Amino acid sequence: MTAKPIPVPNADTKPFWDACNEERLIVQSCRSCGHVQFYPRVLCVKCEGRDLDWADAEPVGEVHSFTIVHRAPTPAFKETAPYVLALIDLNGGFRMMMNIVDCKPEEVAIDMPVRIIFEERGGQRLPQATPV
Ligand SMILES: [Zn+2]
Repeated sequence: MTAKPIPVPNADTKPFWDACNEERLIVQSCRSCGHVQFYPRVLCVKCEGRDLDWADAEPVGEVHSFTIVHRAPTPAFKETAPYVLALIDLNGGFRMMMNIVDCKPEEVAIDMPVRIIFEERGGQRLPQATPV
């Protein structure tokens, strides 16, 4: 079986991935204007400020949109298909793309409440959503 891809942290994303390994969800926040943003960047997308910080994010949200993947994009995902790829609106005011796991794809619905869990993948944990 081919292994699923593992996230490769860079200087901007390393704090996020390190927190995932501790099973904590954090989000970048701007000290100048208070904007929170995902994914992590070098500057604030709202005010272009560079005074960015990290804040703990509540690991709960709801489904904004989703699709059911029936045909695996690579051999690594063949055993997982069909699976759900979703946009999750986190309670902290930002949006992330992830899988919804531990439920049947046909049970997923728009606005469905979810919580974040962390999937171990080759030494790196990554956030996934599961129904509340
Ligand atoms: Zn800002």
